[in-house]
Amino acid sequence: MKKLVSLLFCVTIAAASVLYFSACGHKHVWGDWQRNTTEHWRVCTRNGCTAEDRSAHTEGTCSSCAYGFKVLSFGFDEGGDTAHSDFAKEANVWFAQKGEELGFSYTFVGTDYSKLNDQTLAEYDMVMFLNDRPSNHDQQNALQRFMENGGAWMGFHSCAFSMEGNNEYWTWYQSDFLGCGQYARNTWNPTSEPLTVETFEHCATKNMTEFTFTSAPCEWYGWEFDLKANEDVTVLLTLNPTQENPAGDQPDPNKQYEIWYEGSHPIAWANNNYNMVYMNWGHNLQSYNNGAEGTKSSTFSSEVQNQFMLDAMYGLVLNKVNAQ
Ligand SMILES: [Zn+2]
Ligand SMILES: [Zn+2]
Ligand SMILES: [Zn+2]
Repeated sequence: MKKLVSLLFCVTIAAASVLYFSACGHKHVWGDWQRNTTEHWRVCTRNGCTAEDRSAHTEGTCSSCAYGFKVLSFGFDEGGDTAHSDFAKEANVWFAQKGEELGFSYTFVGTDYSKLNDQTLAEYDMVMFLNDRPSNHDQQNALQRFMENGGAWMGFHSCAFSMEGNNEYWTWYQSDFLGCGQYARNTWNPTSEPLTVETFEHCATKNMTEFTFTSAPCEWYGWEFDLKANEDVTVLLTLNPTQENPAGDQPDPNKQYEIWYEGSHPIAWANNNYNMVYMNWGHNLQSYNNGAEGTKSSTFSSEVQNQFMLDAMYGLVLNKVNAQ
């Protein structure tokens, strides 16, 4: 009888708390969501536990797994800096392909910033800036409202490149939103570098397993403001060059300042007041001759970096959907 009671108790507990605790009291540690077109599921990653949590997607962008989210992407995939447009070309292929695989939509509208208006933005979960951003004040203000209302945003490389005195200098964006202020310096040539993971406590880094990884090649930027001193900012990844392992390989003896030998340089960060992640990569190694041998690297060549981008997208979109 005692056995039966205890068995019944166990079954009841199991049924009542299947989402959080197993019958034997362990707290399930759920893996990431997996998805098909109608439902999402995740399995407990604890040894020997076979618990599974499965249900149908919610209406619209799924509030559990973000299935069906919508990205509106801006930038130039022709003209401008060849290395920047080359990244945008690549990004358009990569994000569209991931969207098909994983169930999100990716819409690239080039530099048609007239799409940055309240009505259009209401149809999207995330705005993406590929090496560019708007200069028109109404469009800038529409992005600011979108972000202040919990919208999700990811931006790459020179979307943060700006210097005061340019007539389109966007103070809220540089100082408050990105937190970096003006562009200050860059490495040259674009190089792959070891990046340090500064925290695993963020949606973008939660699946990382190592403290450092090798990035795809990029021209790395430095900034006016010290992002690490900004308490609203969580620095996610840093570049930490040394005398032995400098960043950049500039051969020109007059431009040796483009090789960095010291410092801890923020490469990706989040502003905790907004639902955003900025990533400094987005500049492919180029010959700048435009010919067949123009492209010499891919920003999507690092699996760790790729996972970071996807995890950031899902985390930011879920924050956005669940905040509303
Ligand atoms: Zn479990
Ligand atoms: Zn779902
Ligand atoms: Zn660049």
